[in-house]
Amino acid sequence: MLVISDLHKSFGDIHALNGCSLSVQRGRMLGFLGPNGAGKTTTMRSIFGLISPDSGSVTWDGQELGSGERLGFGYMPEERGLYPKMRAHDQLSYMGRIHGLTKKEAADSASYWLDRLGLAERHDDAIEALSHGNQQRVQLAAALVHDPALLVLDEPFAGLDPIATETMSEVLDEQTAAGKAVVFSSHQLDLVEDICEDVAIINEGSIVVEGTVKALKDAAPIRHLEVDVDGDARALLETLEGVRSIEVEGSRHNVIIDASSDVRGFLGRAQEAGRLRHFSYTTPSLTDLFREAVQ
Ligand code: ATP
Repeated sequence: MLVISDLHKSFGDIHALNGCSLSVQRGRMLGFLGPNGAGKTTTMRSIFGLISPDSGSVTWDGQELGSGERLGFGYMPEERGLYPKMRAHDQLSYMGRIHGLTKKEAADSASYWLDRLGLAERHDDAIEALSHGNQQRVQLAAALVHDPALLVLDEPFAGLDPIATETMSEVLDEQTAAGKAVVFSSHQLDLVEDICEDVAIINEGSIVVEGTVKALKDAAPIRHLEVDVDGDARALLETLEGVRSIEVEGSRHNVIIDASSDVRGFLGRAQEAGRLRHFSYTTPSLTDLFREAVQ
């Protein structure tokens, strides 16, 4: 298990990490969320010794990390670090060799991952000749080529088309099912909600929410009410207790309301206001939880 404890890191006056603590277990996938500048990349870089925290610790199975442990991890950095002139297969074989594979193991693994990620025809293409999304697939392959026990991916889904997104999600799922610990940062909250059991939200350098998506949703202090009705139901909605916000898009009213609010009777009153097309009362989405946590 990866355990990050009480990390602090300042760059001059900027407190990038402010007591950040978080853990990732084997066989689990953690979505690491937070607004721009919250400290996600700084946390990930700390795992790989690319920045030195001012205080705090990062351990793997209880051991402080050295270069040996880190070689057994896979990292997809924010600044994609591939050699533009190198051919994709050569690049991956080279990465495999750096991480301790034999020449044959590295070449076989490079071929496997290029094929698995939909680049079977591109083994001999230079990295710079690949599209942004395809370079990103090679970058994921580079993180996977040595079969790491921990995968740390900085915004792996950014800029991918829906097919590549699906392939990347499947691969991360397979890695998790195979017992790897997987953590990735993302701003695509719907996607994270779909594929991750666990999430952590960082804000201003410390974790403000951590847990399973399901438990966090159930325990949330808010509920999401969606009402689609002819006419303006805003005045009617405002009669409910504990309404936190109402957004109206045409006939659709999206309401955030206290979980403790009693909405019985509301359905009847909404029907009096006009023809009711749709009514739902659900736990909040991850996007709602995120807004609550960072605002
Ligand atoms: P994003 O979602 O925009 O990628 P992030 O959560 O990854 O953001 P970080 O890149 O970790 O955020 O940055 C956290 C804070 O630390 C920001 O205020 C950033 O400007 C600052 N910071 C990060 N690296 C450095 C650096 N090398 N020098 C100075 N400030 C830095």
